[in-house]
Amino acid sequence: SGQMRSAALAIVRRLNDNGHQAYLVGGCVRDEMLGRPVKDYDIATSALPEQVQALFKRTVPTGLQHGTVTVVSDRVPYEVTTFRREGGYEAFRRPTEVEYIDSLQEDLQRRDFTMNAMALDAEGGLVDPFGGMADLRQGVLRCVGTAEERFREDALRMLRCLRFASEYTLRIEERTWEALRECIGLLQHIAMERCRAELERMLGGADPNRALALLADSGALRHTKAEVELAELDGIPAESWPGLLGIPSSDERLAYLYLRLGVDASGISEDMKRLTYSNAQRDAASRTGAAHEYLSGIAAGGPSEGEAKDAWIRASLRHGADALLRLRQLYALDGPRLLGRRDGEAAGDAPAEGPAFLEAWISQGEAWLEARPAGSLKELRLSGQELVGHLGEKPGPWTGQVLGRLLEETALGHLPNDRERLLEAAEQIYESLQKKG
Ligand code: ATP
Ligand code: MG
Repeated sequence: SGQMRSAALAIVRRLNDNGHQAYLVGGCVRDEMLGRPVKDYDIATSALPEQVQALFKRTVPTGLQHGTVTVVSDRVPYEVTTFRREGGYEAFRRPTEVEYIDSLQEDLQRRDFTMNAMALDAEGGLVDPFGGMADLRQGVLRCVGTAEERFREDALRMLRCLRFASEYTLRIEERTWEALRECIGLLQHIAMERCRAELERMLGGADPNRALALLADSGALRHTKAEVELAELDGIPAESWPGLLGIPSSDERLAYLYLRLGVDASGISEDMKRLTYSNAQRDAASRTGAAHEYLSGIAAGGPSEGEAKDAWIRASLRHGADALLRLRQLYALDGPRLLGRRDGEAAGDAPAEGPAFLEAWISQGEAWLEARPAGSLKELRLSGQELVGHLGEKPGPWTGQVLGRLLEETALGHLPNDRERLLEAAEQIYESLQKKG
């Protein structure tokens, strides 16, 4: 980061040496002032994009329509953006047209929050016309200018507000919060992708519990373009959420929320689709949900430890070992509550301590999966071809059925993963299928 900083300052100086104003701006200044690691250094300048392109060897026109040229130095990208004013805002979104200006102050004025509207010059001089430093010192998040106007110009700023407040442990200034409550309905004009990106960062951030409380208090999720089931989280009192930092990633925290709300596997997948999550993310979360549905049913019967283990392994074959490993983390955090609720009911108060089968899932779930003699058809020491050849029958749906049964018996430890023994067992399974048939 020290190297990145020097490279960014070198870009600023080169612009200065050619008669242009230039500053570090936005997030990097904020994070430096807080002593937090800086993700990327952004530069604002009075130079026009074509002037920036002419001054540096390697540039990429990443956002010419809003005045941004990316300068590449040592393979690291630096966004250099011409000072600009944002003219008319369209339908509560940021404009596509911009007007170039030569005043830093005016450029800072279009920015969302005081802490994001500071600049640093090449000598380390801070430009802070809106009191961003004072707000940071007091732990206050405040809009630049009139909050209501700023949220009406661009409704996404409200989600950014919630994200920054939770990520940086800031109190939202009173009028900023009032305006947010007032304007929250305008979120319906914002593309779901952009809302989801903010949600993802809130859940994945430093204080996901605060993010949830803010989402609930603001009602933000009730006002997105698509109606989402996740909005129901405002019905759960903030105190009853466990510490979500105990779950490692944004996606897994989200899966926990769905389980807590009692949303089933297909509901999770559909809701995440509405939220524009990727297919891979939806698939992973909904398989976690499916494994949970299955294990909830088992848990309701009060299984012995042996039954609990078999169910765990069966679930891993049906829904993927990865889903079980994720579920284990959710159970470790809040298992008694997730498994304690009755069908169709959102989880309420739960006993602090779990039953023996739950303790076994949590403490042995991973080892059981590792110890499976085979976890997939690929690991089974008998192929479909060998099976068909041995029985001398035409391949058909029975092939998959027999292999599936063999895999299950092997994974459960009822059958060794040994070709001869598998063939023997296959004959019996095939016969019983024929009889049923
Ligand atoms: P991070 O990168 O950690 O999310 P950041 O502050 O750098 O934080 P970016 O989205 O990278 O956020 O934006 C860079 C800067 O551009 C911000 O600091 C802010 O000054 C300005 N900005 C970004 N989005 C908006 C917006 N919707 N309205 C007004 N200003 C914005
Ligand atoms: Mg940034």
